[in-house]
Amino acid sequence: MVRVVLATHNQHKALEFQQILGDAVPGLEIVAYDGPEPVEDGVTFEQNALIKARAAAAHTGLPALADDSGICVDAMGGAPGIFSARWSGRHGDAQANLALLLDQLAELPEGMRGAHFTATLALVVPGGATTVVEGIWPGRIATEARGEHGHGYDPVFIPEGFDETAAELGPDVKNAQSHRARAFAAIAPALRSLASG
Ligand code: IMP
Repeated sequence: MVRVVLATHNQHKALEFQQILGDAVPGLEIVAYDGPEPVEDGVTFEQNALIKARAAAAHTGLPALADDSGICVDAMGGAPGIFSARWSGRHGDAQANLALLLDQLAELPEGMRGAHFTATLALVVPGGATTVVEGIWPGRIATEARGEHGHGYDPVFIPEGFDETAAELGPDVKNAQSHRARAFAAIAPALRSLASG
């Protein structure tokens, strides 16, 4: 069994990872990270994912997997982007963050509300390789928040091919299609080769 530490303190993301990972990589055990959180002062998703993975690998001596993610709105040049978790100025206040985003886009017509979720995953193996991958989930921003599932911006994100928001669609669709699911599929080969020694 190879243990990989998952460098996130976000319980929603940790749960999604557990659900997505399932039995996908035999011989791999994902453990939660409870060490110190580094300052995320990168200016890209990739830099922030690497900061978190490197800190967890250094603290535990184990291979570490970290994710940095956010929502990117076309009409806003990719914002909120890396600032998604603190868009309203209150870090982690999902209601305030999505309310501000809806407000900012209030005048924007239907055809111009394109957006995507991004998840960048970094795998840092102490004394070994570093792998970085990205997953994108394309869609658009709704005109009002709808749905009870999920977290963060799920109530205002309508994935491509649907009329419902991610929060209305629920975990089965999300875990099969999301940015995090796609990033995981992209990093799976590196995890498999780690697990197979
Ligand atoms: P991080 O924890 O620094 O990676 O910040 C990610 C932020 O992006 C979260 O706080 C959410 O606001 C947003 N976000 C990322 N992934 C999702 C998702 O799957 N659903 C809804 N919001 C998300």
